[in-house]
Amino acid sequence: MTENVKPATRRMLLIGAATLAGLPILAEPRRARAAGTLPKANAKYQDHPNGANKCDTCTYYVPGPKPGAAGTCKVVAGSIAPNAWCILFAPKPH
Ligand code: SF4
Repeated sequence: MTENVKPATRRMLLIGAATLAGLPILAEPRRARAAGTLPKANAKYQDHPNGANKCDTCTYYVPGPKPGAAGTCKVVAGSIAPNAWCILFAPKPH
């Protein structure tokens, strides 16, 4: 069946399919895709460090647009302060 499709038409179909497949990624901001869904209360999120442990040294932290700006977390929902902490803290590998 595909051998009856002209090469130019087949190419257009492939380009159209690839474009449609990429649309959800382009329409969704990068930070939103990385954000987790666990409520802060469930993670016992606090807006200050726990000793030397804080979000910006956690493997799940996704930095904000500028140094010191709030980012997101791959596990916990919402805006995450770089100096915050929760019980799911896992240090970044060195
Ligand atoms: S400490 Fe908790 S809230 Fe902060 S980045 Fe790690 S997992 Fe997310």
